[in-house]
Amino acid sequence: MKVLVINCGSSSLKYQLIDMENENVLAIGLAERIGIEGARVKHEVPNMDKVVIEKPMEDHKDALKIVLDALVDEKHGAIKDLKEINAVGHRVVHAGEKYSESVVINDDVIKALEECIELAPLHNPPNLIGIKACQELMPGVQMVAVFDTAFHQTMPSSSYIYPLPYELYEKYGIRKYGFHGTSHRYVSARAAEFLGKDINEMKIVTCHLGNGASLAAVKNGKCIDTSMGFTPLEGLAMGTRCGDIDPAIVTFIMEKENLDINGINNIMNKKSGVLGISGVSSDFRDIEEAAEKGNERAKLALDKFNMRVKKYIAAYAAVMGGVDTVVFTAGLGENSSSNRKEICSGLEFMGIKIDDEKNNVRGKDAVVSTDDSKVKVLVVPTNEELMIAKDTVELLK
Ligand code: AMP
Repeated sequence: MKVLVINCGSSSLKYQLIDMENENVLAIGLAERIGIEGARVKHEVPNMDKVVIEKPMEDHKDALKIVLDALVDEKHGAIKDLKEINAVGHRVVHAGEKYSESVVINDDVIKALEECIELAPLHNPPNLIGIKACQELMPGVQMVAVFDTAFHQTMPSSSYIYPLPYELYEKYGIRKYGFHGTSHRYVSARAAEFLGKDINEMKIVTCHLGNGASLAAVKNGKCIDTSMGFTPLEGLAMGTRCGDIDPAIVTFIMEKENLDINGINNIMNKKSGVLGISGVSSDFRDIEEAAEKGNERAKLALDKFNMRVKKYIAAYAAVMGGVDTVVFTAGLGENSSSNRKEICSGLEFMGIKIDDEKNNVRGKDAVVSTDDSKVKVLVVPTNEELMIAKDTVELLK
């Protein structure tokens, strides 16, 4: 079965065509700058040269047309006929409280996702546009929606409720939803598989550390707490997002700087995090380089980031009544041995001991803790696309 995985952003469309007989990626690519000047599709088939197709694209339907043409192109295609694509799996950001698992897309699902737009105004609309474009261009092909929020729906109410008037939860659905769920689900399952253990008997903290970053407490295969919240702004310090701050700071800054809602949102989402503290960059590689050259604010940004991850790991051990596995994933988690080391240092009291030599690894499944570490520390590259394709196959079987 060949599954096309689609992930639509506001002006982009990422795709992967995966042969699920052997989980081989047949093609991978990205349509970017959709609707603006300089639109292009970067398309790659393993063992072939990468191609860049520069063509105006008014909308996601235009982009998808070009992608589908590229997939069957004589020179750089991956398949002969679009009929070879058996199903499409869509990444969808927000399903509110409606779905705790992936679903086959039908009219009711589309309606439910439209109702969630208020909760994810930047993300759900492009996801829906992508679904509708596929329905138009690939009529009859079955589609599945895989949600970022679904994995976290198992959280107990004590984790997801905010200490605000309960009526606000009832009226507006203000509660913790959590994000990166497909990644947390994939890496926790993969960690159990890699260690040869039963996930139903494990207490895992998964650390998805990329430009956006979140942790999850996964007990017996189920998420029981996660650091992102009502929106992806809560929790860790991130590339440009502030994460947890005293809520009173929001109105204080608005008053002092004479800011409206857009102004304060812009500061908290785009100008904060490690970019805000360091003033250097939102990219950890730049910040690490600056810190090494003696930039004190870059060092402070890294310290703040690492300390917060450390605090959440310890908090989640408390929430689960212990921890036996910590998993690092995403851009920073998979690649930065120094960050992993810093985060874990001081956690020896919990039985977490990093092995410097084993920790010198990037981008592949590996145990990076010492043999006598009570808690296993792992690097597991995330693969949300494969998870989406697996769910698609499972649901359409
Ligand atoms: P992601 O959002 O998962 O794509 O992660 C992107 C982030 O990972 C970038 O902003 C970088 O800060 C970080 N990253 C990627 N590679 C490295 C590396 N070798 N060392 C440190 N940070 C890295």
